Amino acid sequence: MQLDPNVKPENITETYIIQIKGLIQGVGFRPYIYKLATDLRFTGYVENRNDGVLIVVNSSDYKIKEFVKLIKRNAPVASEIRSINYSTAPQQVFSDFQIVKSKNFSNDITDVSPDIAVCELCLDELLNDSWRFHYPFINCTNCGPRFTIIKDLPYDRVQTSMSEFKMCKKCEKEYIDISDRRFHAQPIACADCGPAYQLIAPDTNISDLEQIISLVCNLIDKGRIVAIKGMGGFHLCCDALNEKTVSRLRSSKNRDSKPFAVMFSDIGELGKYANTNIKEKQSLLEWRRPIVLLEQKKTLARGVNNGIKSIGAMLPYMPIHYLLFEKLKAKAIVLTSGNISDEPIVIDNITALDSLSMADAHLLYNRSIQNRVDDSVIRVINNTARIIRRSRGFVPSPLNLRLNTDHIFAAGGELNNCFCIGKGNQAIISQHIGDLKKIETYNFYKEVYEKYCRLFRFEPEIAVHDLHPDYLSTLNAKKMGIQTIAVQHHFAHIASCMAENDLDEKVIGVAFDGTGYGDDRNIWGGEFLLCDLNDFTRLKHLEYLPLPGGDKAVENPWMMAVSYLYAIFGNDANTISEQLFRTIDPWKIEMVLKNIQNKINSPLTSGMGRLFDAFAAITGICTEASYHAEAPVRLESYINHQVSETYSYRISNDISFKPAIIQVIEDIRKKLSLKTIVTKFHNTVIFAVRDTLLELSAENNVNKIVLSGGVFQNSYLSTKLENILKKSNYKVYVNKKVPCNDGGICLGQLAIAAKRRELSCA
Ligand code: ZN
Ligand code: ZN
Ligand code: FE
Repeated sequence: MQLDPNVKPENITETYIIQIKGLIQGVGFRPYIYKLATDLRFTGYVENRNDGVLIVVNSSDYKIKEFVKLIKRNAPVASEIRSINYSTAPQQVFSDFQIVKSKNFSNDITDVSPDIAVCELCLDELLNDSWRFHYPFINCTNCGPRFTIIKDLPYDRVQTSMSEFKMCKKCEKEYIDISDRRFHAQPIACADCGPAYQLIAPDTNISDLEQIISLVCNLIDKGRIVAIKGMGGFHLCCDALNEKTVSRLRSSKNRDSKPFAVMFSDIGELGKYANTNIKEKQSLLEWRRPIVLLEQKKTLARGVNNGIKSIGAMLPYMPIHYLLFEKLKAKAIVLTSGNISDEPIVIDNITALDSLSMADAHLLYNRSIQNRVDDSVIRVINNTARIIRRSRGFVPSPLNLRLNTDHIFAAGGELNNCFCIGKGNQAIISQHIGDLKKIETYNFYKEVYEKYCRLFRFEPEIAVHDLHPDYLSTLNAKKMGIQTIAVQHHFAHIASCMAENDLDEKVIGVAFDGTGYGDDRNIWGGEFLLCDLNDFTRLKHLEYLPLPGGDKAVENPWMMAVSYLYAIFGNDANTISEQLFRTIDPWKIEMVLKNIQNKINSPLTSGMGRLFDAFAAITGICTEASYHAEAPVRLESYINHQVSETYSYRISNDISFKPAIIQVIEDIRKKLSLKTIVTKFHNTVIFAVRDTLLELSAENNVNKIVLSGGVFQNSYLSTKLENILKKSNYKVYVNKKVPCNDGGICLGQLAIAAKRRELSCA
């Protein structure tokens, strides 16, 4: 910046400093400020710092207020202004407005942008006449990869995977031209200087893009599987209407029946196969481009979701997707994570060629992926978008809390693990990591943690973990050599929901899931807790029943059903079980009964997830589960919104659904339709919860109800329960920003540890 000697001091108003914090790096924020400032004829400068954006200008008080208003009003789509403050500063005189270079100031950091789907303007250049026509790595200040290519902060090209590509003259001209929409777009590239695709298949190695597109489309349309390098990792891709290929893909991935995500060419094509409401359309089309769970209208290949009435759908978000759909006959393609079973998604070319051997061809590119992220998953429940899996497009955007979270590491759970680090009053949550029981996934967990420490200048002082002594996340936290705090699983679920809703007072939490280690060493999961962020009391829970075989019963819903039947019918359970579970060997049933009777490997559980399992097995809808939570997912396909009846239940010291199970069996014998039985059962749970809450809220004088835990991914259950509770004048809070499943518990752990530290310092 220059100090202008020709301007007389009396003509100058004052010097103002504007400080902006939030998600403002890598989203075209500085060029935006530049344009706004020059339009308003401001003089001064804008500077990127690692703790935010700083603007210094000459202005009058009136004009500065206008400026701040405008900044907020028209901010770039992917940016998020968290705070904007201005104050006067010692007089300085400027003759022009400039963008000045990023400086590394402190360990304070500003938000790192998540990855952004290709924008309309770039798409237009990609598909129509421009000098980047059909260049599949086209991007601008408003779109393109971000988190997935970042090595370190601040976000500058040298700190990304783009550092290996030297900008050509033409790109550089745009990069340094303040008026260009690619000004300082760090991943800027073109066919002459940027990354390129390469197709590898037996006897084939092509690098000409037009040839690649033709061949890939040809292969997919002919029923072949292609591994495609995506933004945060590889996808396996095939025609979603080709029955044979989809089942080949399924068996080669060792994935028994977990639904595959499907990408549709456009929203119109998607509308042929799935019903969407306005909220769902918004989620599908927003710049994060998540997978959205939708109600199925017309079936794709059966193997896509194996008879479940929902589709995990998404729309194109990378330039290559659009280029493929230009030529593809298939308008719906399976696009599932490139991995074996549930191991982490593959990110590098060599591993992909080696381990994704089920693919008939591999579409690679020569830019490395720095941060592995899966596609995110959203479900719209009760007219609000709720996150089920938080990854691409969301990470590493922080959540802002009203607590000081500095130096706290929250280890998360075991299944669907995410961890979380505290920075200032922010919670920075990792991408979806997965099931830590797999060694590959556990290694990924440790690797991401190291990266987050570096990227966000994080130094842990407190590690907070699940109460379960054997979770790898627990063992790892204990090895860190710092202060540790153990937090009960369901308390963490409720606290996650409290934290994202800014609640810091007494609430009644309803935590429903499959499994979580309890204070009494039993397996909890149907819990009514009186909580604040510091502590909880267990008010009531689902009645305890043996979980025969422990974890084995989770994969075999019929085992939990036998447990219910034994609790109800005693020794007659054997005969009834054999009648109900005709696919299960009678000797297996007998063995399970013996284990229950002799209390062998049969811990007690109050899990609501287990009640749903038992019910799903008794109705024959799911006796054996091939993936996590298959039983409740299948049950949802049987909901009939016209049915309003319920079964009986008993609320005393605990809540028993044994009366309901007896009536269910009667209804099955009467050959009542499964839809009616399933809906009646859901209604029963809903009304039992309401009645329990009527009692507990009066006793404890609390009317704020917090719902969390994986069971609340069930749309019918959540919607109806929330609405009924609201009608009874309760204030109801749910998870939207973090998953209600175990992917969210790290946030709860963080909030609890932060609160306890605050109280201990007070
Ligand atoms: Zn763009
Ligand atoms: Zn170039
Ligand atoms: Fe849980």
